[in-house]
Amino acid sequence: MNKKQIRKEKQNQAYLKYYYSEKGQKKIKTYRNSSKVKKRQKKYHEKYRKTKKYKKGMRAYRDKIKRLVYEHYSPNGIKCKKCSFDDIRALSIDHIKGKGHLHRLKVGFGNALYRWIVRNNYPKGFQILCMNCQFIKRYENKEIPEREV
Ligand SMILES: [Zn+2]
Repeated sequence: MNKKQIRKEKQNQAYLKYYYSEKGQKKIKTYRNSSKVKKRQKKYHEKYRKTKKYKKGMRAYRDKIKRLVYEHYSPNGIKCKKCSFDDIRALSIDHIKGKGHLHRLKVGFGNALYRWIVRNNYPKGFQILCMNCQFIKRYENKEIPEREV
């Protein structure tokens, strides 16, 4: 590293230190909560989320976190626990004890469940099933959400 890089690195570290300090967090919170900033961020985000770059990035991020979760619950290759079907597009995370739809209502749909799992350090009670096996299981356990009956 040359002198300039070292200086920059030091600045970075000092910034991060401040950022994660109580004082820094407080300041950021106040800043984010100001209506001017909120409005600007909303406008920017609305514009940005329509771009190809964003969509592509989101998909890549979703796939990444999904894969991470799948690999954890299916360590011998990502596949359905019951029938070994292995096309990731038709695989999904299943709550072994059922009532998955209730849990999903709580943590949110789509990617939120994967994020929840990672954040909670991969709790027990999940398995990877393909859509077929998942629907068969739901039917057999009579745990089909009302709206799908
Ligand atoms: Zn299956």
